[in-house]
Amino acid sequence: MFGPPGSGKGTQASRVAVRLGIPHIAAGDMLRSEVARGTALGLEAKPIMDAGGLVPDDLVVRMIESRLNEPDAKNGALLDGFPRTVPQAIALDAMLAKRNDRVAEVISLEVPEDELRRRILKRATTEGRSDDTLEGLAQRLKVYRQDTAPVLDHYRTGNTLIESINGHGDIDEITDRIIAALKHNGVTVKTA
Ligand code: ADP
Repeated sequence: MFGPPGSGKGTQASRVAVRLGIPHIAAGDMLRSEVARGTALGLEAKPIMDAGGLVPDDLVVRMIESRLNEPDAKNGALLDGFPRTVPQAIALDAMLAKRNDRVAEVISLEVPEDELRRRILKRATTEGRSDDTLEGLAQRLKVYRQDTAPVLDHYRTGNTLIESINGHGDIDEITDRIIAALKHNGVTVKTA
């Protein structure tokens, strides 16, 4: 599940993963849990996350690789917030290739920047995430444009199916759009 900060990838990924019967693996949630537990990785990640930067690739790659090795992910997983840089995408492709697997599809949620700003500033008042500040947000959007958007080009040139989904609208409607696209591509989806 690919998209800018505030695009609703986390919300949609958790719903779609249930319909696909595979785990939802969210890099940002995993990192926040490391921070909350005060692990070595969490201590390193916290100031970077608060500033809207990216946690170093090698740390995130190791975290995701060990998660993908857990038994519940043996039939696949829905990744959210990973890969977020081209080196992460290359590392993911290599780890999947080792198991004769690959990224099956990229779901790209499209939301204009003014809407992203509105959503994140609203979330700041309800969820109190420490990176949901004006400065944090500006930095995350910049990092998205510079480092994360190229991940889409990486998969486009690699001939991976990329499904662009309009991320504007209500939550159920967007889930329906994603499910319809998956079905259209021949993916088996459980009924809601
Ligand atoms: P959002 O997409 O709304 O910014 P996330 O929960 O996906 O929220 O990510 C929050 C923060 O966690 C990011 O700004 C970044 O600091 C860190 N992070 C998440 N995923 C990655 C990743 N794949 N690589 C590096 N840092 C990451």
